[in-house]
Formats: sequence, structure tokens, C-alpha cells
Amino acid sequence: MKQCMFERAVFLSWYCSVGDCQFCYMSTQKDKIKDPKRAKRRLSSVLAEVLICRKLGWGLEFVSAGYGALEFNELLKYLEAIKKVWGKKIWLNIGFLDKEQIERLLPIVEGVSVSVETVNWKLRKKLCPSKPIEPMIRTLELCDRLGIKKAMTIVLGLGEMIKDFVELEKFVKEYKIEQITFYRLKPHQGTVFYGQKELVSDDYVTWVRKTREVFPDLKIVVGSWLDHLEEISLLLEAGADNITKFPALKMFGNKYAKKIQAEVMKAEREFKGSLVRLPKVNWEEEVNKLSISQDLKEHLQLKLKQYLKGMR
Ligand code: SF4
Repeated sequence: MKQCMFERAVFLSWYCSVGDCQFCYMSTQKDKIKDPKRAKRRLSSVLAEVLICRKLGWGLEFVSAGYGALEFNELLKYLEAIKKVWGKKIWLNIGFLDKEQIERLLPIVEGVSVSVETVNWKLRKKLCPSKPIEPMIRTLELCDRLGIKKAMTIVLGLGEMIKDFVELEKFVKEYKIEQITFYRLKPHQGTVFYGQKELVSDDYVTWVRKTREVFPDLKIVVGSWLDHLEEISLLLEAGADNITKFPALKMFGNKYAKKIQAEVMKAEREFKGSLVRLPKVNWEEEVNKLSISQDLKEHLQLKLKQYLKGMR
């Protein structure tokens, strides 16, 4: 039976200096954040989350942060530590990167994901006025030259039409994208989308089906939302490989987590890992095995206890 796993995107910050993409939660927060330098997570908290992902059999979709949230050297420090806990190279979604930055990332990063958001380019200009696509394209071209894999993310429900699929097809082909994540727009309060008509599951499924038909080998990850979980089995049947975008630490073992696993089974897939049951793990031993400083291990243990308590 074909497997399906939950892939978690790990966020390092809740600040983004771009902050004006019209659908984004962070755009509603930018002006409320007094000190952007502090709007980032502690390394110990990030590492605890990554260790839980590994031990529960989840995937690490990518590590992400808002623009301007971390200095590049600080980002490298985070990524190096994450790689140690994850045990292998990771994916990164951090906006655009220059050649020197990609070269420095080479020992840590398996692939780079860019947030295309929508392939309706006119719509994109309107919705993401300060996040042009060109620097992302340059990043993809550099990744290609330097031998790093490439991925992209798309948000559906922004006003795109299925006829825009031809643009997606062109983009994936031209930039040799190996992995795509589709998200369903969550209309956040404070954005222009709040209270508007939402994407219907049939349209979401059509995007995924068409993508699979044209790209049999492309890895497709799909994100749904709590009030649309019944579309997961349909998305998997349409050709998606894995699922993402579930607040799995907060909602571990609850009715939504159970629903996701049931949806995976409905699509006749085997769910790898678990969203409902904690495996037997000697967490202290796992932390002690890590090649990180003693101080960081102690903070990680504390954070881990907090997360696991919530999950239990
Ligand atoms: S760049 Fe990304 S995080 Fe920043 S506002 Fe736009 S969508 Fe949100």
C-alpha cells in the first residue's frame, strides 16, 4: 500500500519585514510588533519541535522564517543545529537567496522552496506588492547551477482560475521544480479575504489532479484546513503524496488529528508515523545523543517536556 505522511513546516519567526501580502496572517501583525528582533523563536524550542517530528515519523517540509526576521549568520546557526537534530539535510523556504548565501547553505540544505503564491501573475502583483517574483526566479536558477533541489508553494483560493494552470505547468517545467506544496487559503481576520467565498474542494482537487497528470514524478504536498478535512482523501486520490498544514503539536490526538488519519485510510494509503499516539521514546536519551552544547541540551529538555505535556 502506498504511504502518506504528515510533513511539518517549522517556522523560526512571527515577523516579516515585507508584511503586505494581502492574504497573509503576518501582514496583520507587522505593525503590532514593537521589536522585530525579538519576534523569533528560541533555538531550543525549534529543536524540540524538530526532534518530535523525527521521532513521530513526520516529515520536515521545510524550515521557514519571515523576511528580515533573522540575520543570515544567525539563520545558519539555526539551520546547522536543526540538521544535527533532524539527522540529514533540510529544505529551506526563506524568500530569495544570492549565490554566496546558497554556497554557504550547500552543506546543510537539500533544497530551496520559493513562495510563488499564485501563478496568475497579474493577481500576484496586486496581492504581493512588495514580493516580486523575479528574485525568486533568480534563486531557482542559482539553485539549479549549484546543484540544490527546487520546490515551490502555491496558495489556492486567491482568485486564480483553472485556466491559470498553464502558467503553473510552464513554471514547473522551466525551473525544473521537483516538489510543490498547495495550500488552501485560510481567510485571516484583518485581511481582505476575511468573510469572502472560500475555495471549493472540487476546484482544489482539479488543480492537484491536473498537476499529477502533467507531472507524474513531481512530489505533491497538500495542505487543507480544519473545516475542510474531508477533502484530504480526494486530494490524495487526485495524486497528492503527502499532507501538511496541520497544527499537530497543539491538536495532537484530537478529533481533527483522527479525522486526518481516517481520510488517509479512506484514500487507501498507509499513514506513516502518527498524529494520535505518542510512541515510546526515551526523550532524555535522545537529547543526550545530540551533538549540541550542554546548555542547549538543557533548554531543549525543558521545552520538550512542555510540548509533550501538551500532546499527552
Ligand atoms: S512575504 Fe511571506 S510572510 Fe511576509 S507578508 Fe508576504 S506572505 Fe507573509
